[in-house]
Amino acid sequence: MDDLSLPQFPFDNSYARLPERFYTKQAPTPVAAPSILAVNDALAADLGLDAAELRSLGGAEALSGNRPLPGADPLAQVYAGHQFGGWSAQLGDGRAILLGEVVGKDGKRRDIQLKGAGPTAYSRMGDGRAPLGPVLREYLISEAMAALGVPTTRALAAVWTGEAVYREQGGFPGGVLTRVAASHIRVGTFQFFGAREDTDALGLLVDHCIERHYSEAFEAENKALALLTAVLNAQAKLIAKWMGFGFIHGVMNTDNMTISGETIDYGPCAFMEGFDPKQVFSSIDKGRRYAYDMQPGIGHWNLSRLAGALLPLVDEDGEKAVEKAQKTLDVFPAAFDAAWTDVAGRKLGLGAPGAEDKLLVNDLLTMMAAAKADFTLTFRALMNAAAGDEAPLREHLTDTATLDPWLVAWRARLTEDGRDNAAVAEAIRQVSPIYIPRNHIVEDVIEAGLHENFAPFHTMNEVLADPFTEQTGKEAYAAPAPADGAVHRTFCGT
Ligand code: AMP
Ligand code: MG
Repeated sequence: MDDLSLPQFPFDNSYARLPERFYTKQAPTPVAAPSILAVNDALAADLGLDAAELRSLGGAEALSGNRPLPGADPLAQVYAGHQFGGWSAQLGDGRAILLGEVVGKDGKRRDIQLKGAGPTAYSRMGDGRAPLGPVLREYLISEAMAALGVPTTRALAAVWTGEAVYREQGGFPGGVLTRVAASHIRVGTFQFFGAREDTDALGLLVDHCIERHYSEAFEAENKALALLTAVLNAQAKLIAKWMGFGFIHGVMNTDNMTISGETIDYGPCAFMEGFDPKQVFSSIDKGRRYAYDMQPGIGHWNLSRLAGALLPLVDEDGEKAVEKAQKTLDVFPAAFDAAWTDVAGRKLGLGAPGAEDKLLVNDLLTMMAAAKADFTLTFRALMNAAAGDEAPLREHLTDTATLDPWLVAWRARLTEDGRDNAAVAEAIRQVSPIYIPRNHIVEDVIEAGLHENFAPFHTMNEVLADPFTEQTGKEAYAAPAPADGAVHRTFCGT
């Protein structure tokens, strides 16, 4: 084994250079018999890594955490957070280990993290491990999100550990996901230091985040407020994008909201089929806190927690600090509204949607909700309608008394843009996927994986890599769940 060659990662670990109170250094705990299940070739190329090396025996050893990678400086990050509104003063990476950062071919710095790599100082009662099911799920859905153009953490590789992980429901095969992110810094990271009144740490964290994510804010007079504004705008756009695809995150705790504006934590998330703005999937979200239409409000609430943590840096005078932070936060509803109008308006084929288009958007959504119309396919049918074939749309929205006048108003609005039908249909196609990770298929794919059949996993990944283009023979991936096969509940499955 000792002549085994390990993949080369050009590490440059800026987070590990922050003071020790930001993390606990921790190497991954080795596993019994690691084997590579999936490697993301496209992402490996962006990162300047050799996918063949990642697939090799040495790759399996490194990406399971069995062998230390040269240049890595493994650590578990500490953070705090509000979970379902309840405060936890200390959370942290309980089953994830940051190996370090790599600056990719595109000049972007990204974290390389092993999720499920063994216990850390923050594991509490947990085992630090991840069952293979949730690893496959996160791989599929995060990569689908990336292909849809939604900012997200990525999946570089999935490993099977050859060990069992024990949960309430029994034993499961264990997995390790190599997660890649612009950074793993969360609202909860700021809250951790805010709660401890550690203003020095907050200042270092603001600088670190600005350098990594919002370099344009370096020149700002008030860097804390500039960072808050940047995160606010990024989150407004992110949540609008989620909602444009019918995506429900499901666990928008402040420790699951990134500073970078990337989606993180694919626990109980799901894409909705029949449109219901009040839809919730997560089995633990009893209060429906994270329902589809609650997401902007929760985003705003989480940003208020970020603002609260930043207060000592906003102004030395406590009252003035609150006033300034509040003024910045108050921008969120308008920022979200503008982002949403843009996302939704483009799904109607409009070139430059504006506030005046909200009625058209809302009327369509009202019809969709009344009909429980499939969120994804209705917009695809709108594409057909733009091209001249209204039949598919009429299948989804059968109430002609509301649909007919809406179509008249929509066509009148499209005439203002002056684009021809084909151009409008193409514009809708580019933002309206035919393929999303439908829950019942995701579950079948995971079930097959747990029986050591990974072919469905790879096929689904391929289909979802090109979600806007119809692919021959892939009709099943576009179809809603059969009435008796619909998934109504998702589980964190940690
Ligand atoms: P999540 O619900 O995935 O956002 O996780 C909330 C917290 O629980 C995080 O601090 C995780 O690191 C921790 N956690 C989740 N699963 C485990 C596990 N199996 N072992 C240790 N810590 C865990
Ligand atoms: Mg989390």
